[in-house]
Order: sequence, then C-alpha cells, then structure tokens
Amino acid sequence: MIEKNGVVLVLSGPSGAGKSSLIKKIDKDIGDYYFSISTTTRAPREGEVEGVHYHFVSKESFIKDIENDNFLEYALVHGNYYGTSLRPVRDALSLGKLVIFDIDVQGNMAVKNRLGDITTSVFITPPTLSELKHRLENRSTDSKEVIDGRIKMATREIQRTSEYDFVVVNDDLDTAANVLRQIAITARLKIPNDRINEFVQQWEDIE
Ligand code: ADP
Ligand code: 5GP
Repeated sequence: MIEKNGVVLVLSGPSGAGKSSLIKKIDKDIGDYYFSISTTTRAPREGEVEGVHYHFVSKESFIKDIENDNFLEYALVHGNYYGTSLRPVRDALSLGKLVIFDIDVQGNMAVKNRLGDITTSVFITPPTLSELKHRLENRSTDSKEVIDGRIKMATREIQRTSEYDFVVVNDDLDTAANVLRQIAITARLKIPNDRINEFVQQWEDIE
C-alpha cells in the first residue's frame, strides 16, 4: 500500500532526447521534487557517479532485489536491467513530493498500472531521428555500437508515444523547457482516487 500525498511525473524518450538537460533547466521552478535514482546492471559511463546518476549493481544483486519485491517496476533495456526501488519512492510520496522518473516505455506502463491516478507521463523526443543520432554522437559518451543500438531502440520507442499524456519535442531547448515546466507544475494538481471518493461521500451530505 502506498500512501499518496505526492504525485508522479514520468519522463521517457530515447537516450539522448534531452531529458537530463531539460530537468536541469526547470530544476528551480517546479517546487520540491524527488528525482528517482534507478538501479542498473549497466556499467557506468564516464563521468557517471554511483548514487547520483544510478545505483550500479551486479546482475546477481539486481535479481535478489526482484525476488525480494524491492522494485516498483523494472525492465530489461538494451540488454541491461534497470529498476525503480520502491522504498525511496514511497517515502517521497508520503512527504507530498513530486516524484520524477526517467524510465523507458515498459516502466511507464508498469507505473501507470500501479500509480495511474497520480501519474502524469511525458514522452520527450528530438525533432527527428537524424537529430537524435547527431546529439548522441556529439555527447561522446557512447561507442558507435552503443549509439547504433540506441537508434534502433528509439525507432521502436517512438511507436509508443500515444501511451503518454504529453509529447514534448525538444527542438529548441528553452521552448521545450517552458512546456515541460508547465506540465510539471500541473502534474501536482492530480488527486488520488481514494481522496476523490472521500470527497464525493462528504459532498453527498443530505441525509
Ligand atoms: P538524455 O538525458 O535524454 O539521455 P541529454 O540531456 O544527455 O539526454 O542530451 C543529449 C545530448 O543532446 C547532450 O549532449 C545535450 O547537451 C544535447 N541536447 C539536449 N537538448 C538539446 C537541444 N534542444 N538542442 C541541441 N542539443 C541538445
Ligand atoms: P541509459 O542507459 O541511457 O541511462 O538508459 C537507457 C534507458 O533505460 C532509458 O530509456 C531510460 O529511461 C531507461 N531507464 C533508466 N532507469 C530505468 C528504470 O528504473 N526503469 C525502467 N523501466 N527504465 C529505466
């Protein structure tokens, strides 16, 4: 059972779409939020820090966490496991925070199934596939093989944009950040089902 005083904002989109850049842009404007740090079995990229970008663990440790029901959701992406630990999300939600996830399309469906009434989902994408390729090459964090894998993955992910509440095309960074800022602020207005039911019961106050 998750106590739901807070709300969830799911961000998905191809690796290289600009999710981290956009969050950095709106960071100061969206109130108190908790950015969920996922656990992954993939190796850290250059510059990535344990506990900041991800919790980097072995496959054995990840599978133990699955068995112990420690994940809100998890998925196999590009051959590596990625998962959202339940405990910090539960804590942040009980404190009334906006909880932000950077998760893939499978994770979005899982979160929608478990926390749909308090979740707003956004698919972020560059304007075209060639622009995505260009940005991944410029970011210089992945090998050619990894970039090719991400491009292939992106063409599959883009087919599932209709599963999201919003699509943000990150062409000009400031324009996209303005849109995402409004979505993040509005996401806080979601009311969980149990609170709506309570309200309806009280509203029907004529004996
Ligand atoms: P993600 O977090 O989705 O993987 P990043 O935020 O790391 O993506 O962005 C990928 C690369 O694209 C980075 O080098 C970033 O500086 C660049 N980038 C992000 N948004 C834009 C934009 N609107 N125009 C040009 N380059 C961008
Ligand atoms: P990257 O390797 O570029 O950091 O992430 C690859 C993909 O995994 C991205 O689409 C990202 O959104 C997704 N991802 C990261 N963490 C999680 C997670 O906890 N759960 C799920 N389902 N996907 C995740």
